[in-house]
Amino acid sequence: MAFQPILLPAPEMKRKTSIRTTLFFETLALLALTVVIVAAAAFFLAGHQLTLRVTSQLQSIAESKETLIETTVSRQREQVSTLAHDPSLRSLPLLTELIGFQSLLHIDVNGDISTLSGENHDVPATIAQMKTVDGTVFLPIIGEDGWKQYIIAAPQTFEGVRTGTLVAVFDATLLANRLLSAGEAGKTAEVLLANRSDGETMILRLDGSTGRAVPLRNPDAAFSVIDAALQGDEGIAETVDYAGINVLSAYRSVPSLGWAVVAKIDQFEITAPLIKLALNIAGIGLMAIVFLALVSFVLAGHIVSPLEELTRKLKGLETKRWQFAKTITTGNELEEVDAAADDLTRRLRRAYEHLEDIVKDRTEALHLQLAKDDAILQSMDDGLLVADADGNVMYMNPVAELLIGKKNVTGSSATSLLKILTKDGRELQPGNHPVSIVLKTRKRYAPDGDPQFTLVRADGKESALQIRATPILRGNNCDGVVTVIRDVSEERRIDLMKSEFISLVSHQLRTPLSSMRWYLEMLVADEGATLTPEQRDYATQAVSSNARMVHLVNALLNVSRIELGKFQVSPESIDLNELAKAVAASFELESKQKRITFAYDLPSATVGVKSDKGLLTLILENFVNNAVKYSPESSSVRIGVGIDPDGKHAHLSVADRGIGIPFKEQKDIGRRLFRAENAKTIDTDGNGLGLYVSRVAAESIGCALTFESKQNEGTTFTLTIPVEPKTSKTA
Ligand code: ADP
Repeated sequence: MAFQPILLPAPEMKRKTSIRTTLFFETLALLALTVVIVAAAAFFLAGHQLTLRVTSQLQSIAESKETLIETTVSRQREQVSTLAHDPSLRSLPLLTELIGFQSLLHIDVNGDISTLSGENHDVPATIAQMKTVDGTVFLPIIGEDGWKQYIIAAPQTFEGVRTGTLVAVFDATLLANRLLSAGEAGKTAEVLLANRSDGETMILRLDGSTGRAVPLRNPDAAFSVIDAALQGDEGIAETVDYAGINVLSAYRSVPSLGWAVVAKIDQFEITAPLIKLALNIAGIGLMAIVFLALVSFVLAGHIVSPLEELTRKLKGLETKRWQFAKTITTGNELEEVDAAADDLTRRLRRAYEHLEDIVKDRTEALHLQLAKDDAILQSMDDGLLVADADGNVMYMNPVAELLIGKKNVTGSSATSLLKILTKDGRELQPGNHPVSIVLKTRKRYAPDGDPQFTLVRADGKESALQIRATPILRGNNCDGVVTVIRDVSEERRIDLMKSEFISLVSHQLRTPLSSMRWYLEMLVADEGATLTPEQRDYATQAVSSNARMVHLVNALLNVSRIELGKFQVSPESIDLNELAKAVAASFELESKQKRITFAYDLPSATVGVKSDKGLLTLILENFVNNAVKYSPESSSVRIGVGIDPDGKHAHLSVADRGIGIPFKEQKDIGRRLFRAENAKTIDTDGNGLGLYVSRVAAESIGCALTFESKQNEGTTFTLTIPVEPKTSKTA
């Protein structure tokens, strides 16, 4: 078989992104996040550690400076105090070198200053005010060049009398350098010494360029920690210094002198290494990110390229006629997928080939069927019209087009296209149209008799119509209706001719048959007693055959009347009791022959109806005739008359205990020429016309003919008669 693949358009799927890109960017994002977190953590941890270290460094500087000043000044105060109390010590050689002052001065009670030892250095004249100091006093002397000297003064008494003040002048340069240097604490680290006297704050710092201890130009801008330290507090604080710079300061007081020591460092110097650290981490992190992202990109390529290959192979399956080759040898899941795809493709190919065969065969079969159907439809003698569920024409064969007189009517309404006239020449209402009835009831439309429809063609010509309609059912749904139409004008014409012929023949036969009956009855009566018994028997047989012929001719005459529409209906008042008795009496001969008795269920009161007596008699005669015919000998036939409680309908019934009607044949009773099988074996002369005539006659006078029967048990035929006739019409 030539394998022709049907190329179906592959579903277009736009790939939003590739695995490679996803992997690359996701790794990048993950790494960036890690680096940021690590950098932040390192930054904060290092910052904390650094702050701790700097804090403790500043505290220890402040503490050491306090200790230095305390120990140095305390010792010198004690020495000066001792010299003040013991003047003999002042004559000690090398006293100046021993104690380390520049000069020793004496201020007498008048304020006159005399040098006791050492060089005569410049001292401010204000020291004369020290003549009255109470205890040992420490006083730095700040000059133009900064802090160069300090004095320690101690009151001098002799035998309880104040003799003046001993003042030792010390060189402050060394002490100041030692006190104010911050050592290796940092570039911006600084030690400040402060004291307050007479409400004025004096702050000393080391001038970096000269290496001298100098007072602050604007001590009012001194920062808050100095106040706290001067008040005796100590601690560590982040604050703004005299120059407006953010600093971290450790502060404490020197209680014995009322001084404050502050060791401080710029915040910037603390954070600078942190920023550097963070930048380093970020730099290294960035490099790591780029490197690892590149690695992940390369790795992703390794994973993705077999996948891309697989996708390419799968996409090309249709164009390559479902051929697939295993090419992936990664040894992992991808190789398994490749193998599975190979297997799947092989099966698909087989199914596809099989499917192609089936489709080809079915298509050929369908073409053939279509050609056959078309030929059938085209060659049909009947017109065929198919309408959809809305009653619109889907198909019409040529015969239907001819009958209707229109072509190419697909989509137009079937009911308006099939214009039908009823027996009385009126147009059939759309609701009563066979197509509408079938669509509504979903049941086949096939009337028993001929409703005598006429089809009006598009050009206005009329033709006798026979119509049958069948629903197209699919489960519970009705998808449309198939209508078969036939022009039965010829049949109707022949039927008419036949009925007219039968009517004529029956009429012509009645007169000779009647005279035959007379003569035969006279022969049987044999008043001259000239016949032998055998001859009399023959004559009797001839009488009964004549009766049967009369019966048949009458039946035929009645049928032809029906078909020619010649049933004359003339209502008159009838007493049903009387009618019942009279009809039964007319069967005396037949009933006697079979020893059948008549029983009556007649009401005591008269039951009167207004109807056609001839037709009622005809119907009742048929009932009684059948009851006698189909009953066994010596049985009884019960004739009943009744009236409804409302007085609107009367009933005439004839019940026998005869052969009954088989259940499955009951539906056909009343059809022209129909006889049940059991009846045919009992009475071979029957014609199946009696009940047909009775039914049509009953309908023409507005009566209903019903029956109940059970095989081998009996039958009851009932005629329901309106007490007052509704209409009087000609059937
Ligand atoms: P016929 O009696 O000549 O056959 P009818 O039209 O009178 O024709 O009856 C039609 C058929 O109805 C009968 O052939 C018979 O099968 C059935 N039938 C009518 N009346 C009875 C009855 N009383 N008992 C049994 N069958 C009956």
